[in-house]
Amino acid sequence: MEPNMKRTATVVKHTGSHYLLTELPEWNLFPAVLRGKIRLKGSSATNPVAVGDTVSYEICGEPAEGAEGITATTENPAVITEVHKRKNYIIRRSTNLSRQAHIIAANVDMAFIVITLDFPEVKLPFLDRLLVTCEVYNVPVTIVLNKCDLYGDEHRERLEAFHSIYEGAGYPIIEVSAKTGQGIARLREMLSGKTGTSAHETQEGTGESSHGDGAKPHIALFSGVSGVGKSSLIKALDPALEPRVGDISEAHLQGKHTTTFYEMYNLESGGFIIDTPGIRGFGLVDIDRDEIALYFPEMLEASQECRFTPCTHTHEPGCAVKEAVESGRISVERYSSYLGMLDEEGKYR
Ligand code: GDP
Ligand code: ZN
Repeated sequence: MEPNMKRTATVVKHTGSHYLLTELPEWNLFPAVLRGKIRLKGSSATNPVAVGDTVSYEICGEPAEGAEGITATTENPAVITEVHKRKNYIIRRSTNLSRQAHIIAANVDMAFIVITLDFPEVKLPFLDRLLVTCEVYNVPVTIVLNKCDLYGDEHRERLEAFHSIYEGAGYPIIEVSAKTGQGIARLREMLSGKTGTSAHETQEGTGESSHGDGAKPHIALFSGVSGVGKSSLIKALDPALEPRVGDISEAHLQGKHTTTFYEMYNLESGGFIIDTPGIRGFGLVDIDRDEIALYFPEMLEASQECRFTPCTHTHEPGCAVKEAVESGRISVERYSSYLGMLDEEGKYR
């Protein structure tokens, strides 16, 4: 490689003073800094570069004697010169009223929303908000129901109801336990990309890396409220990793230094996880009130039969969505989340 040659890498961490980059799917971390101001057009994000971003970088200076090229070091970090166009990104707003957004993660292939039935209790409107965000950005979602070791007979009914609401809406659910290991192999498989339906993905590969069996490892977002077991699951997926389990309070995560905590992890079994500790919720941007229903897949489908277009599915005669709610094809819970979001968006816009 030549000095000053432009190359491409992925951002895996931002520590405040510098970024850590790697050339995926390898995991060769090196430090980098921003040169001057990189501003994304029309973006109100407080962080121009986020975990998951693909960036161009340069390394300046002369190669050390006998060395093949220049390696970035803390003294001579790579310089990020450009942020590539994002295929998607997930943002957080400090408040609903805030115009400013913080990008939590960019370019994710899939999202795992981690919840527990009771420990802490899942709040369906919150879950639905996360699901809508993923729909907006076209990110395939799996609901991960953790702490299954704690569910007994007393939970059976609620478990079944939960399955029926979300599987009914089209979302896959996997039941796992970071404690007993239940479901962990399945999660690993999904992250490694080895479960792809394409025969191509399971072919013998080039052996180029630890992921070199031809599968394309995925970049997955791990989200969910504090305490559901995100860190524990990451540790269960790969015991070599060291996410902080336990005591991160949301209070610590408010304010300016939040970026420090978002980080991409490299799984030995293949795949990359972006953890989002302490997230209360994602912000909804760029979505109009009358578009919200498009991101409830089961409502979108039913709405083809509504008498009026557009239809807010609230008071209109001949509304197929309301009919589906009455007949039980759309769950009351999902519909009331929708109404809640309509209300809220109306209030803040
Ligand atoms: P995070 O805030 O989402 O990262 O959650 P943590 O991984 O820090 O876990 C919160 C608490 O739940 C810790 O005390 C964990 O030991 C516990 N925990 C996590 N997963 C499980 C599980 O599968 N079963 C049980 N019984 N406890 C769990
Ligand atoms: Zn309607």
